[in-house]
Amino acid sequence: MIHPYDMMQDIDRVLVTEEELHRRIREVGAQLAADYAGKRPIFVGILKGVVPFFAAMAQAVQIPCQWDFLSVTSFEGGTHSTGQLTFRKDIDHDIAGRHVVILEDILDSGSTLKFVKELLERRGPASVKICTMLDKPSGRTVALEADYSCFTIPGAFVVGFGLDYDDYYRNLPFVGVLKPEVYQD
Ligand code: 5GP
Ligand code: MG
Repeated sequence: MIHPYDMMQDIDRVLVTEEELHRRIREVGAQLAADYAGKRPIFVGILKGVVPFFAAMAQAVQIPCQWDFLSVTSFEGGTHSTGQLTFRKDIDHDIAGRHVVILEDILDSGSTLKFVKELLERRGPASVKICTMLDKPSGRTVALEADYSCFTIPGAFVVGFGLDYDDYYRNLPFVGVLKPEVYQD
């Protein structure tokens, strides 16, 4: 790839602005706070892409809750999922009897979230729900839907607000479509 020196120059168009992101996260956060009041949920973030979304969402949900993180990968640095999932880091908490909310940056094919959801469900939690920042329904190859979704987006490769290409662009404060020439040889 061309290593970016001007991140904005590599963006074709902004899909979700910083303001839209924060407004919608507050909205979904209020919904989560209402749904999980008195349930002491554990929010489980899927590293690394979820970090900005997790931070914003965690502050939007003002009820007693705990945080945890896990790491899997279905990517080999490209723009399409390989379908091969590797478990890199497990969560620290025992989730038996607990209400778990998985937080993820984007639901695309569905294979990552299906893998994570089934893995956590085997540990006897009271419930497991999915909250995604972005949903790309056109990419779905596995029957799985999010319980909470902030934005539905078209079938383009996006970066920003945690989402990367080759680990770059995560620090953009908005979600944008990456110019194809950045990742095409
Ligand atoms: P899935 O397993 O649902 O196909 O994909 C989930 C993972 O693929 C996400 O956590 C993310 O890392 C990656 N992914 C899917 N679509 C995109 C995209 O448009 N942009 C980026 N940067 N990553 C994506
Ligand atoms: Mg990811």
